[in-house]
Amino acid sequence: MSYDFIEDAKLERILDMVEPTAEEIERIINKSLNKKRLNLEETAILLQAKKPALVEKIFAGAKELKDKVYGDRIVLFAPLYVGNKCINNCKYCGFKASNDEVDRCTLTHQDLAQQIKALESRGQKRSILVYGEHPDYDADFIADTVKTVYQTKQDKGEIRRVNINAAPLEVAGYKKLKEVGIGTYQIFQETYHHDTYQQVHPSGPKSDFKWRLTGLDRAMEAGIDDVGIGALFGLYDWKYEVLGLLEHTIHLEEKYGVGPHTISFPRLKEATNMDIDEEYLVDDDEFKKLVAILRLAVPYTGLILTAREEAEIRREVIELGVSQIDAGTRIEMNGYTEKDEEQDLNREQFKIGDTRSLEEVIHEQVGNGKLPSFCTACYRLGRTGEHFMEFAIPGFIKRYCTPNAILTFKEYLEDYATEETRKDGEELIANKMAEVNNQEIKEELEGKLRRVEDGERDLY
Ligand code: SAM
Ligand code: SF4
Repeated sequence: MSYDFIEDAKLERILDMVEPTAEEIERIINKSLNKKRLNLEETAILLQAKKPALVEKIFAGAKELKDKVYGDRIVLFAPLYVGNKCINNCKYCGFKASNDEVDRCTLTHQDLAQQIKALESRGQKRSILVYGEHPDYDADFIADTVKTVYQTKQDKGEIRRVNINAAPLEVAGYKKLKEVGIGTYQIFQETYHHDTYQQVHPSGPKSDFKWRLTGLDRAMEAGIDDVGIGALFGLYDWKYEVLGLLEHTIHLEEKYGVGPHTISFPRLKEATNMDIDEEYLVDDDEFKKLVAILRLAVPYTGLILTAREEAEIRREVIELGVSQIDAGTRIEMNGYTEKDEEQDLNREQFKIGDTRSLEEVIHEQVGNGKLPSFCTACYRLGRTGEHFMEFAIPGFIKRYCTPNAILTFKEYLEDYATEETRKDGEELIANKMAEVNNQEIKEELEGKLRRVEDGERDLY
């Protein structure tokens, strides 16, 4: 496939043409609150809003949408770096081929099993495996690592959903990964702006913009309809990148009938030998705006906020519509079996901002009234596009998502939590149970909670 559905000039023109007024902003937010995806022009109007009163309206709209549609659940996962060999030279990345200060390594089957056990022993149930781009990391290799993860179980737990963040593959490669049961396949376009893309990806297969842009089309063609897109914010104008993400979403919707399952919006962080112009770095206010606008533009898509960001900004941004966060994250190779030491930039791709443990993050979430969820039910029942269903099917969240979040959180409290988290967590569960007003759902859930207390696991 050789087409390219992103037109720089068109996106720049749309951004230039619009003039936001309070009435327009309100109309657009209402469209989103009525669960309709925004178009490029409407999103551009939100992006161009600068007056504080207008920006406040956008934040309030994003919060209302999150509360109204998704409620208080927050899904938790952990990334796991499988191999950092790489033949690309992305200027922003510590793993680039030309960086000879980085220690290169690929986890063996045993190393990987050890890392997984370490994650399981902390209570993780969902992981995303991350790979550099290298001939060693072909589809067969990735499929083997996925199998290893699913086979590595501890007495108390297992990773129940494996997502992938790796280079784009051929259709045949994705088919192999579908066979071993991956969850989401994630590819970040990094920047949707052609010239910038060429500048920051000077060599290696990743320098081919179209090959990367169409990477998830090939995944769809191979039958993987659960895909994640993303842009690395800080390479080019953040407003343009938001339109790029939206145009990509619209393309997938129009061509395959389903948009991306998730959107990620990493901000550029310090890495060894990074060689990036600072002109487009995104400050905290812009970051909050871009998340709120994405929430409104694609109301049915999951938004992922990573531990690249510091705890404080994560707290604020989660309220604007984030549905998934990683926690307890270590991104150096073999990092989960090491004592908590200072980050060593020579062993990781970039510096992370939130270095707290899973337990600490969960305790904070509970304190904020958020319901931590390790739910993997939709994926395991073959219901792909769970975010879309949560959004589109009336009652879906009450019937499935909240009960499954409560049950997986209860498992965490029984098996891994400190006494304090357990006490606060039980209180949270009691409060959430009090909100369940369908008697049948309530009784079923009470029965399952008792079974979890009696030692049964993985009820959904
Ligand atoms: N090598 C694969 C690729 O490039 O698609 C796998 C992903 S890479 C290991 C994960 C993502 O980290 C990249 O897609 C990029 O968006 C992000 N990343 C790279 N360098 C970064 C940096 N300095 N700060 C923040 N994120 C970065
Ligand atoms: Fe390699 Fe990915 Fe880093 Fe680029 S972002 S250098 S492809 S690991």
